[in-house]
Amino acid sequence: MERKDRKRLSGKSQLIDTAHALSTLDFGTMEFMKWLMAEETGSKDCLIVIKDFFKNKYVILFDKNISSSVIISYRESMPWCITCDTDDCGHVGFAICLKQHYDRNDQIVY
Ligand SMILES: [Zn+2]
Repeated sequence: MERKDRKRLSGKSQLIDTAHALSTLDFGTMEFMKWLMAEETGSKDCLIVIKDFFKNKYVILFDKNISSSVIISYRESMPWCITCDTDDCGHVGFAICLKQHYDRNDQIVY
């Protein structure tokens, strides 16, 4: 469970040009930042849209990059991308940030 910082170690594959923009956890993290800002500013230029979110169960995203929906399911609270069949794509990075975001918001009342 406490492996949140592991994602920071996985940014070394950014130069692989066969990969699309959301092929690493770090890109997912960046997209999440964009999504957060878009939530505040109403901007529409983020690549990922959250379609559905069930805490600790699954997240359904729409990835504009590949023009299709992506399902991430939480297995023992670690996200797994069913669409990419991996636990280290950008969708998973996004889901990790989303979960942390909601976990925080459960504890802190703004
Ligand atoms: Zn994925």
